[in-house]
Amino acid sequence: MTAELIDGTAIAKKVRAEVKEKVAKRIADGKSQPGLATVLVGERIDSATYVNMKQKACAELGMTSFHHPVSSDITQEDLETLIKKLNADPKVNGILVQLPLPDHLDEERVLQLVSIEKDVDGFSPINLGRLAQKGREPLFVPCTPYGCIYLLKEAGVPISGANAVVLGRSNIVGMPAALLLVKENATVTVVHSRTKDLPAAVRQADIIIAAIGRAEMVRGDWIKPGAAVIDVGINGIPLLNDDGTPLISEKTGKPRQKLVGDVNFDEAKEVAGFITPVPGGVGPMTIAMLMANTLRAAEIQDK
Ligand code: NDP
Repeated sequence: MTAELIDGTAIAKKVRAEVKEKVAKRIADGKSQPGLATVLVGERIDSATYVNMKQKACAELGMTSFHHPVSSDITQEDLETLIKKLNADPKVNGILVQLPLPDHLDEERVLQLVSIEKDVDGFSPINLGRLAQKGREPLFVPCTPYGCIYLLKEAGVPISGANAVVLGRSNIVGMPAALLLVKENATVTVVHSRTKDLPAAVRQADIIIAAIGRAEMVRGDWIKPGAAVIDVGINGIPLLNDDGTPLISEKTGKPRQKLVGDVNFDEAKEVAGFITPVPGGVGPMTIAMLMANTLRAAEIQDK
């Protein structure tokens, strides 16, 4: 392996410890305990797991969480009423609406309604719009892209003047990651499903952020020697027996899976200068940055 491993688990732990210390200090100074409201619509198991992890993180760092699980058939009006109530609640510093919402709900209207001072996910059109504008600063940056940039900085990767390629242009990862890199003075190319020659575009990059949700699609020979590779993808692929048949779990009777990123790690680590693993790279950073944003929300609301 030639690449230096960027250990997201260790860096996230450090961020969480810093947040915990600042929370304890503000409480010792007589200030309020930061509070995060989580809104979970319906019973999606993955969404419930993510919300649970966020609540646990709040408890660990000395923050309060207020959980609002609502039925999957909630009306737009009732969901909007809940958001308005949370906007008005002084104990709630941050509001997190777990996405995706069921199809009958207008996600954009819901996100637009979250007060920008409580938009700890950074998904409100105002915060995203500010991220896109020169000379304007968002109050909050979306947690996963924020984590990607944080990892690059912690690893000492120079961003200013670098050629960066972002694979993917989603509202929650690819596009805000590209905007953040521009703010950091990188020269940025965004590639997506209509890009004609993906490998050629990626080969120009000193920094690669991969967020396409395609298991191990970025190959070693797409990577410029020495480049920094941040792999956001989380994909489950089947584990196989020696004869190539799916490995079945004795416990559940279901095929076993392993998690891989959007980058072929074994190939990429031989070429890249820096690389994040999956799991243990970007994943742990997302919640750490949410905690940092929630503390920031409390600080903004102190004023
Ligand atoms: P989306 O599905 O919203 O977006 C995927 C993007 O990748 C789209 O822009 C799409 O292009 C592009 N794309 C898809 N297939 C290809 C292809 N074959 N070639 C080139 N581009 C392609 O995904 P997300 O942004 O929400 O998530 C991306 C990955 O990151 C997923 O694996 C997800 O699980 C993971 N993730 C991880 C997080 C973490 O905490 N680590 C947090 C959030 C996501 P187009 O726009 O043209 O359709």
